[in-house]
Amino acid sequence: MIAQNINNIISDIPENVKLIAISKTKPNEDIMTAYKNGHRFFGENKIQEMSRKFSELPKDINWHMVGHVQSNKIKYMAPFVELIHGIDSFKSVRIINKEGNKNSRVINCLLQLKISDEDSKFGLEKEDLKEIIFSEEYLKMKNVKIKGIMAMATNTPDTNVIKSEFMFAKKTFDEINSSGYNLEILSMGMSNDYQLAINCGSNMIRVGSLIFGERN
Ligand SMILES: *Cc1c(COP(=O)(O)O)cnc(C)c1O
Repeated sequence: MIAQNINNIISDIPENVKLIAISKTKPNEDIMTAYKNGHRFFGENKIQEMSRKFSELPKDINWHMVGHVQSNKIKYMAPFVELIHGIDSFKSVRIINKEGNKNSRVINCLLQLKISDEDSKFGLEKEDLKEIIFSEEYLKMKNVKIKGIMAMATNTPDTNVIKSEFMFAKKTFDEINSSGYNLEILSMGMSNDYQLAINCGSNMIRVGSLIFGERN
């Protein structure tokens, strides 16, 4: 099932769109089923769980942190994380840079843009996000790289609302790229809305339940 689900999604999306399989709460066996089918990109939302899975599973897995990141937890994933999606403060960017330096690597991250009015959704306002990217301070940082934008739409059945939120993220992405900074990744779209997200310009989707089944 899991392998088939991944195959179905991959055959359904354009080649330039990367699928991150969100394996949070799911056992190692489920991840290994996908792994044996050739999948290497997995996402988790809790640092402790991701670190445990990193230590127990094959080392060529690319681990993505998609949850909200507390700045004091960054050090635990700094040695191995492939991409941190949910960065929403300059403070966290600074800490990533510091931890990247300690680990002699450049840590890739995405800034989370707030596109939903829901209080439960984290994220930076557009102007604050731009301010970080175009700041002198960030420009000088050697061990953190902002690769793109991550966004989460409102949890609603109204596709018009979701679409306008995704379009806002794409517009922000394009504005930044036409102002001289090269963002590569626009991470948006989950099990219920990934097709819509891709239609709005997403090139990285984060899909969990559609691959691994519902979580408890
Ligand atoms: C859990 C989660 C997903 C995957 O959600 P599904 O609806 O199961 O596809 C994607 N992004 C983030 C940030 C998540 O926390």
